[in-house]
Amino acid sequence: MEHAPHTEARTNLLDLDEPGMSSWFSSMGERPFRARQVLKWMFHHQETRFDKMTDLGLDLRDRLSDCAEITMPEVLREQQSDDGTVKWLLGLSGGNAVETVFIPEKTRGTLCVSSQVGCALNCTFCSTGTQGFNRNLSTGEIIGQVLQAARLLGHERNGKRRITNVVMMGMGEPLLNFDALVPALNLMRDDLGFGLAAKRVTVSTAGLVPGIRKLRDAVDVALAVSLHAPVDELRTELVPLNRKYPIAELMQACRDYVSGKKKRTVTFEYTLMHEVNDHPGHARQLVKLLRSVPSKLNLIPFNPFPGTRYRCSSSERINRFQEIVMAGGLIATVRKTRGEDIDAACGQLVGKVRDRTRRSRAHRERLEAQST
Ligand code: SAH
Repeated sequence: MEHAPHTEARTNLLDLDEPGMSSWFSSMGERPFRARQVLKWMFHHQETRFDKMTDLGLDLRDRLSDCAEITMPEVLREQQSDDGTVKWLLGLSGGNAVETVFIPEKTRGTLCVSSQVGCALNCTFCSTGTQGFNRNLSTGEIIGQVLQAARLLGHERNGKRRITNVVMMGMGEPLLNFDALVPALNLMRDDLGFGLAAKRVTVSTAGLVPGIRKLRDAVDVALAVSLHAPVDELRTELVPLNRKYPIAELMQACRDYVSGKKKRTVTFEYTLMHEVNDHPGHARQLVKLLRSVPSKLNLIPFNPFPGTRYRCSSSERINRFQEIVMAGGLIATVRKTRGEDIDAACGQLVGKVRDRTRRSRAHRERLEAQST
């Protein structure tokens, strides 16, 4: 008998975590434990061809080739920084692209992963915001960034893993893409996936309070919050989302996030901008604010981009700021800027956004007005 031509779209197995894939196999009348076998092939062997999955029967391999696929974002461009940082532009459907960055250090390798094409939040100091927003990434497009990077880097070379940490600090607000994010986080954590410990997978948010609360119940990962100001008026200016979820509410959500979890802290990111949020007075207000939350403070020197009205704080001001918060009892590090020569530093990821908002046009017009 001839096979009827296949008309339905294939299921991308990268969109499914272990529970999702088990039910998918059940719905096909297959045994659910097939999910474990396939996941191991995908993530431990980085195998995307079903005919190579030799512990599955030939019939099943054929069936999978018919109705499923393992498709990850394709690499459009790779850039290597002098400091070892690598940035990839990864192509997605609809002419969009996102950026993913690998940052090697002595004792760890961190992959910075995107969650949306562009970003809807419009933080005034972030260049991703100037590009507007197109859409959420699918689970497969989120975890596919990790799998693609693992393949390109030769993840398990000589028994040593290259990607030891994943941070959701690329383009987009991860908690505004909650439903696709959680299965991707599950796959980062799951031993059948990348097997990363909870403290090695970080979700960074601009402060979406309901998302923080939902995340705590969904999956065990570390939380980072982009704070950038110790008081509401200034924070609302920098992170407009603060109008909806002001600092007091945000701090309560952070306390609740780590409560009952031993040795867990929230990382607060604070981008230092000259004469905006880098006064000694801000540092003292920050000490008061963060005393009540088990936390670490990550000070990020502002990375300029075309058209921005902000400047980076001087190293004297950064050092002074750090001294004050540390004297106040906070644990504070200054983030070393990496990959600057390839525009891979914080807030510099731009990708290719087919903007659905008017924001990218407004930004272009501002730039043109400035240059004339
Ligand atoms: N939307 C999430 C994930 C993005 S993480 C969030 O806001 O946390 C990217 C981090 O870099 C955030 O802390 C962001 O505030 C910071 N950032 C953005 N633009 C920057 C810039 N130009 N210079 C330095 N840090 C920046």
